[in-house]
Amino acid sequence: MQIAIDGPASAGKSTIAKILANQLGYVYVDTGAMYRVVTLAALQAQIDVNDEAAVTQLLPTIQITFAPGEPVQKVYYNGQDVTEAIRSATVTANVSAVSSYASVRTAMTDLQRSIAQDVGVVMDGRDIGTTVLPQAQVKIFLVASVHERALRRFKENQAKGRNETLAEIEHGVQSRDELDSNRAISPLRKADDAVEVDTTGMTIDAVVQKIQDIITNIT
Ligand code: C5P
Repeated sequence: MQIAIDGPASAGKSTIAKILANQLGYVYVDTGAMYRVVTLAALQAQIDVNDEAAVTQLLPTIQITFAPGEPVQKVYYNGQDVTEAIRSATVTANVSAVSSYASVRTAMTDLQRSIAQDVGVVMDGRDIGTTVLPQAQVKIFLVASVHERALRRFKENQAKGRNETLAEIEHGVQSRDELDSNRAISPLRKADDAVEVDTTGMTIDAVVQKIQDIITNIT
């Protein structure tokens, strides 16, 4: 079975997807992390992220792997643990540019489909229900108000000792949504057959329960 969870930045997709995958015994695939690794690789190589040809040239040199971890899955770039590094403000600010390139999207989509080929997956991202796994049995589109999404990210950052202001985070979330929704290839969009869940004001447990109910009804 394939479960696709799409939605805008910081809507809680990864938290919910990971819990569901654990409960169902499926593999959790964080596709945003993959685009973040490519962005980190470009930044580390001192490539201008607006230079599509240069980013494209880098792609064959990038190997992305995952390993189970708590509280978040571990992400590796060519064997190096980049779980924290891919969440930096710089990577976050540049990832939408990198993820808009056709070459990057093709490489990541191929990788995502190959992971989903033989195992049950809960995959989260922006284009899973529309492009990566259009045959997924369950498609969820998670949304929440911009303010609430920014506030959640702000609290997470504070716990990690990071010092971006709430206004900066809110601006970043809004600008990423805009870029991701308006790009030419596989923009952020709710699939026609996806169920929209607005998580504003809901606890994590309540969202998980709601999605479990949706899965039970569909399957
Ligand atoms: O989910 P997360 O916020 O980590 O995603 C980071 C970025 O990766 C998004 O803002 C978007 O530009 C890109 N992305 C994408 N398609 C996906 C997942 C993420 O373009 N399926």
